[in-house]
Amino acid sequence: MKITKVETLEIELDGVKATTTWRPVFARVYTDEGITGMGEVGMTFGAGAVAAGPMIRDLAKRFVLGKDPHDTETIWETMLRRSFWAQGGGPVVFGAMSAIDAALWDIKGKVAGLPVHRLLGAETPAEPLRCYASQLHFGWEEEHRTLDDPAAYLEAAQMARSQGYDCVKVCPICIPPKGQKTRKRGGFGPAERKLARARMEAVREGIGPDADIIIELNGITSAVGAVQLSELLTDLDILYVEEATHYNSPDAHVRVSQRAPIKMATGERLYTRWGFLPYLQAGSIDMIQPDMGLVGGISEGMKIAHLAHAFDVGVQAHICGSPLATAIALQFEAAIPNFEIHEHHSFCLKSFNKELFEEDLQPVDGRITVPTAPGFGMTLSKDAEKRMEKAEVVLK
Ligand code: MG
Repeated sequence: MKITKVETLEIELDGVKATTTWRPVFARVYTDEGITGMGEVGMTFGAGAVAAGPMIRDLAKRFVLGKDPHDTETIWETMLRRSFWAQGGGPVVFGAMSAIDAALWDIKGKVAGLPVHRLLGAETPAEPLRCYASQLHFGWEEEHRTLDDPAAYLEAAQMARSQGYDCVKVCPICIPPKGQKTRKRGGFGPAERKLARARMEAVREGIGPDADIIIELNGITSAVGAVQLSELLTDLDILYVEEATHYNSPDAHVRVSQRAPIKMATGERLYTRWGFLPYLQAGSIDMIQPDMGLVGGISEGMKIAHLAHAFDVGVQAHICGSPLATAIALQFEAAIPNFEIHEHHSFCLKSFNKELFEEDLQPVDGRITVPTAPGFGMTLSKDAEKRMEKAEVVLK
């Protein structure tokens, strides 16, 4: 079996009911036997998604065309060693490698007639996976909102709880209060602490005592601010604090983890096993959050999960992308021994995102079923495909 073509597909959805950036980027790999596979880059939001497509095509042209899609380890290692830039990293090169790697696993699954988690040696989970409703500060509904008033946080938490979720994630400081334009770093003053506290008390009230809360900080906080918020909110029985500091200094994260009274989760902007290693060695991380569209794909995600397993640390895949990103993460989560909880992002509720694929992967009573169709089991919508920008590299 030989790879004959690699195509990139992307769709600009900025401002389409979303008040944030949203540009899913996909790789579709073709073979001489007519079987195709798809993967996704984890750069849907933020700046830089436009860089991912050209990187996919350049890596494909140099290292993927003409190869057998079953040889995922060899292809991955070749991209790492011979692209020059992967030995140094970043989201563009590892995002591109991730999308290619996932597409190859999709093909391998289709050839074998098995879902990817079974190719990875795991039986299908007997029960659906526990989910949390992620990013409640954007509302928990079709409309994308930025919640300010604590009463709105109460309502969003009640909505998630009424749907059966027993865990939610929310940022107490990501949405600046009315009239304020920027979010500040450094320590928080009395008014900011009061608002953060009121929002999180509302969330606790909304979900009740028998549910978990994860606090999202998005790396916005400095070390001192993260410790301050952790102390302020710890009596609300918080499961984890996520991205307490930015990733440019693993040492800052060590300091926060030593001083904050809440367990730490992070990892959506770390790449490969080497990116996670210093956090694990320092003991500054209690749950890792690798993104299958950024860490290097399924092949590298498995190595990262097992590395964390050696440190007795659990895993939640970070997911913020199209329905394909959810499908890829579910296969990974079903295959690892240290799965903790599945992230169901508020963007998974938006029709402009859901309609990109025919399958709609939604939890029931806060639990999500792992698909068992071959590969990732996803079908790109024909209507959505017509609206996508495409480019390709072909085996000569
Ligand atoms: Mg996050």
